[in-house]
Amino acid sequence: MMSITENYQKISAEIPDYVTIVLAGKTKTPEEISEAIDAGATNIGENYVQEAEAMIKKLGDKAHRVRWHMIGHLQKNKINKALPIFDVIKTIDSLKKAKDIDKRVEKAGKKSISVFVEINIGNEDSKSGLMPEAHEPFEEYMEQFIRQIATLKHLKVEGLMTMGPRFGNPEKSRPFFKRTKQIFDRIKEKNIQNVEMKYLSMGMSNSYKVAIEEGSNMIRPGTIIFGKRSCDTSS
Ligand SMILES: *Cc1c(COP(=O)(O)O)cnc(C)c1O
Repeated sequence: MMSITENYQKISAEIPDYVTIVLAGKTKTPEEISEAIDAGATNIGENYVQEAEAMIKKLGDKAHRVRWHMIGHLQKNKINKALPIFDVIKTIDSLKKAKDIDKRVEKAGKKSISVFVEINIGNEDSKSGLMPEAHEPFEEYMEQFIRQIATLKHLKVEGLMTMGPRFGNPEKSRPFFKRTKQIFDRIKEKNIQNVEMKYLSMGMSNSYKVAIEEGSNMIRPGTIIFGKRSCDTSS
């Protein structure tokens, strides 16, 4: 079995230079995350505010070498706790949530926070994110949504994130990634003020190759670097 270091370095070497790895760290120990940071990891995703808080505390100074991404659903009552911890919130899926965050940024001692809008491209009830099915014509809806987020002074839109349905065969994910890329490109072309469509975050352990082929420049692998989670709550 390969170590975390070997796995991280293998994947980094294998993907194009313009692709950022955000390591999905859920259920991992500080020792495991620490090894990944030593191996070169500079971006870590956490699903839960409390887990992230404990992790950052245990990592001490080493935590400052990393950009921390909130990749899980953010509840309103966790926003105040999340803001000082995270550099990026990747799960904006309602104007209300965006406003709730915007209102609290200054109190958390920050000027602004980077955000991604999350799309639930597979229209799955089990997942969060904006569903195309619920907002047709979706391309139009997304543009208007982003324009509204862009008016919030303390949020900096950096891109889009999607999970997409999980298949055994990653080829099945391809059409979902393709559509997300089209939406991404369309918004990017509009050059909306205060919006920097810099990152398209899609692709996990089993699908990152297909995701990169379809235009992802920010992947979120977990298992393929850390090994299987003992209690896997992801779907
Ligand atoms: C768990 C998780 C991942 C990583 O999944 P793997 O299959 O372990 O690569 C990526 N993104 C999010 C939002 C996750 O919750």
